[in-house]
Amino acid sequence: MTAKLIDHFGRRIEYVRLSVTDRCNLRCFYCLPKGYKTFEEPGNWLTFDEIERVIRAFAELGVNRVRLTGGEPLLRKGLPRLAGTLSALPGIEDLSLSTNATLLERHAADLRRAGISRINVSLDSLKPERFARITGGRLEPVLAGLMAAKDAGLAPIKINMLALKGVNDDEFEAMVRFCLEHGFTLRLIETMPMGNTGRGASRRYLNLQEVKRKLAKTFELIPGVMPGGGPARYVQVKGTDLRIGFIAPISQHFCETCNRVRLTVDGTLYLCLGQEHSVPLRPRLREGISDAGLKAALTEALALKPERHEFREKPYQVIRLMSMTGG
Ligand code: SAM
Repeated sequence: MTAKLIDHFGRRIEYVRLSVTDRCNLRCFYCLPKGYKTFEEPGNWLTFDEIERVIRAFAELGVNRVRLTGGEPLLRKGLPRLAGTLSALPGIEDLSLSTNATLLERHAADLRRAGISRINVSLDSLKPERFARITGGRLEPVLAGLMAAKDAGLAPIKINMLALKGVNDDEFEAMVRFCLEHGFTLRLIETMPMGNTGRGASRRYLNLQEVKRKLAKTFELIPGVMPGGGPARYVQVKGTDLRIGFIAPISQHFCETCNRVRLTVDGTLYLCLGQEHSVPLRPRLREGISDAGLKAALTEALALKPERHEFREKPYQVIRLMSMTGG
């Protein structure tokens, strides 16, 4: 492998977030509008063969990490089969999954066997009624999914919790204790103005620097590190293995270290979560582009990667929902 994907700002791209569906079985109020049904037509979904081609091309250009996401990726039929194919591709060293865990109990062992090394699970509340208010779904299958993942040996398991003022800001300590009890890693996340739902949730925005100060009153926090190459800044609870990551795209944007691009289920390559720069790959794939042509298209697309998101300066800019791009 010689070619490398390096953008105009000197950032090397080695990570692809791959959305395998834009559908979701939850309706988190900050993400998908209630009653939303305008999903991508199945005929426009990249097939597993098309996905494999694109990821193989990326791997030949130096990408070594892929995360399966969505929508809810476990809604895509045959996901463990796709995971098995992708994890076997030369150059792919790390295949991970972001899930709401509602369907994880039944799939955890298969996913592990297919080469998924680690998972991130969204969990904003441990209170069943509150969970239902936030997501429109039930907490119980999520907890069962988490325990199945633990039993299947998926590790690390990271809990992604959106910090929402007046919604779950009395639960950070409880979530820290839950993660301590089960050996999970906790990541707290600031809400982003993605689509109308995300913008609506901005009035629930909480600056994570404040949350960290609050947690430090209860737990002794020391600097921590966590392998994984993501944007979270970690602390560790002293005397334990528990790490807490803070993902603060708004209060501390981390675009200068961005190492990723995103591929949606319809084969659109997005160069930035917070901007609209994109390249449609599906037509090229279906017109019969050669492998060399595909790699050239990916390399050319990188020229569009913007320097940074502008969630603060232009909160009305991103009209697509998080579930479309793949969170
Ligand atoms: N269904 C999978 C899951 O639950 O992890 C993957 C997709 S979901 C869109 C990925 C992540 O995006 C979730 O952790 C969710 O909390 C986050 N998310 C959705 N809308 C968001 C927003 N407006 N701001 C910040 N995070 C958001």
